[in-house]
Amino acid sequence: MSSRVHALERLRPVSAEFVQPNRAEVETAFRTIIRWIGDDPDRDGLAETPARMARALEELFTGYAENPAEILQKTFEEIEGYEEMIVLRAIRFESHCEHHMAPIIGKAWVGYVPSGRVVGISKLARVVEVYAKRLQIQEKLTAQIANTIDDVLKPQGVGVIIKASHHCMTTRGIHKSDADLVTSRMLGCFRENQATRQEFLSMAG
Ligand SMILES: [Zn+2]
Repeated sequence: MSSRVHALERLRPVSAEFVQPNRAEVETAFRTIIRWIGDDPDRDGLAETPARMARALEELFTGYAENPAEILQKTFEEIEGYEEMIVLRAIRFESHCEHHMAPIIGKAWVGYVPSGRVVGISKLARVVEVYAKRLQIQEKLTAQIANTIDDVLKPQGVGVIIKASHHCMTTRGIHKSDADLVTSRMLGCFRENQATRQEFLSMAG
C-alpha cells in the first residue's frame, strides 16, 4: 500500500462504522462500473483500467490527507510594519464537484491585509490546492480558503474570489461550455471597508 493511502486514512472522520475500503475493493467497484456502462472489464484494453482509476483518484483527492491550518503555521513577523494588501492572483486549481465528481477547473485570487505577520506566498497556493483536492462545491471551497486564512493568520481581513468552469454543466447536462461561476468571500476589512474591497476586486478584474 502506498504512503498516500495511509495518508488518506489519517484525516477520515472518526466513526465506529467507517471502514476504509482496501484497494482490491475499489478496483472491483471500477470493474462493476465498466460492466454497467456496457463494456467488458476483462478485455485486453481494460485489464489495467480499474487499477489505473484507483491510482488516479488517489492523486486527485490528496487533499483529504492534509490539514490546511498546519500549512499556514509558519509565519514571518519581521515585516517593518507592512499593513497593505497582499494578493496572490490567478492560482490555477483542479477540483471535483461533490454532486457529479466532474472536474471543476478554475482560478483563485487570495488576498489579505496582515496584522503583524505574513505567511510565505506559496502557502496560500497550497491552501487552495488542499481544499481543491477534495469533493467540493465552489461556494464551500471559497469559504473554506477564506475562513482558514482568517482563523490561522488573524489578519485585518481576507478576500477570496474564485472563477471556475464546471464540467458537470459544460461537457454534460445542459452543455453550456463557456459559462463560468464566480464566487467570493470577504472577511474583516474586505467586508467592512469599501475601498479595500474595491482594490481587491480590481486586481481580480
Ligand atoms: Zn456537479
